[in-house]
Amino acid sequence: MDLESLEETMAGLGQPSYRTGQVWEWLARGAGSFEEMTNLPSGLRGELTEKLPISTLAVDASAKSVDGTEKALFMTADNRPVEAVLMRYRDGRRSLCLSSQSGCPLTCTFCATGTMKFGRNLTESEILDQALHFRRIEPVNHTVFMGMGEPMMNLDNVLAVCERLPAIGIANSHTTVSTVGWLPGIVRMTNEGPAVRLALSLHAPNDRLRSEIMPVNDRYPMEEVVAACREWRHTRKRKVFIEYLMLDGVNDSVEIAHELADLLLPKNDFKVNLIPYNPSGTGYQGSPRAVIDRFRETLITRGVHATVRLTRGRDIDAACGQLAAKAANGG
Ligand code: SAH
Repeated sequence: MDLESLEETMAGLGQPSYRTGQVWEWLARGAGSFEEMTNLPSGLRGELTEKLPISTLAVDASAKSVDGTEKALFMTADNRPVEAVLMRYRDGRRSLCLSSQSGCPLTCTFCATGTMKFGRNLTESEILDQALHFRRIEPVNHTVFMGMGEPMMNLDNVLAVCERLPAIGIANSHTTVSTVGWLPGIVRMTNEGPAVRLALSLHAPNDRLRSEIMPVNDRYPMEEVVAACREWRHTRKRKVFIEYLMLDGVNDSVEIAHELADLLLPKNDFKVNLIPYNPSGTGYQGSPRAVIDRFRETLITRGVHATVRLTRGRDIDAACGQLAAKAANGG
C-alpha cells in the first residue's frame, strides 16, 4: 500500500485523517482488501477499492520449499523485480527476509543479486508490502534485511520500515539489518537508529581477500568497519552478528579461521554465523560440511562464539537474488 497516496486519497474524499490509520491497522493485521475493513463506511470501501491497489507490488511467481520456506518474486509498478522469503521454523519462528533494493550496485563476486543490473532503491511502501504479503498468509515475528540490495544505501526507507514492523508483529529486537560494511550507515544506526540488530557480512578476515570477493571493501576498509561495529556494540549493548560465507578453497582454511579469531578477539563483541554457500551460478562452490565444522571448532577453541546457519529453501533458489536473477536472465 502506498501510504502517501492513501493519505492523499482520503483527503481528496474529504475523509478525516484517522481513516488512514484505520486502514494501516487492518493491513498490519493481514487484511487483503478494503472490503474486509468493516469499520470503514461501505461507500468509502468501494471508492478506495476503485482508486488504490492494495499493494505497490504484483506477485509474479512464488515457490514453496519442502522445508516450508516460501519465496515470492514481485514486480514493482515500473517492472523492477523484487524478492522476499518467509522461513518457517519448528520452534514457531516465522522469519521474513526482505529486499531493500531491486538488484544491487555492489557486485560481490559470490552473490546472484550482484550479477544483475542494479535497478533502484525500493520505496518504504515497496519494502513494507513484501512483509504485508506474507502477513496475509500467516502471523510473522522476525525480519532480516538479507534479500536483494544493500539496506544501508537506502537507510531512510529501511529505518522507516523498521519503525512500522512492530505493528505487524515484528519487534525491533527481532529485526536484523545486514550490511556489507557501509560505514556511514553503521555510524548513523549506532547514533540514531531504532533498537534493531546489526549483522555484518564479513566473509574474509583480511583486506586482500575481502577486496577480491567484495569490491566495496576498497571503499570502506575492513578495520574501520570492524571498529564501527565495536562502537555499535558498546553504544547499543548488543553483539554484532558476523556473517561468514563458507566458500570452498577460498576462505575456509584453518589458518584463515585463526586470522578471523585474531580480528574479532580479544573482546567478545561478535557472534559468528557460518553460512553454507548456496551455489548460484557464480562459479563458487560451498565448503564441505567437515571443513565448515573444522572452521567452527577452530573459532570456538579460540574463544569466538560461532554457529552454523541452517540452510533453508535450497530447492527453490532461496539464496539472495537467485529467483530474480533467473527471471532477469531469462530463466
Ligand atoms: N547487502 C547486505 C544484505 C543482502 S545479502 C549484505 O551483504 O549483508 C544477505 C546475506 O546473504 C549476505 O551475508 C550475503 O553475503 C549472503 N549471500 C549472498 N549470496 C549467497 C549465497 N549464494 N548463499 C548463501 N548466502 C549468500
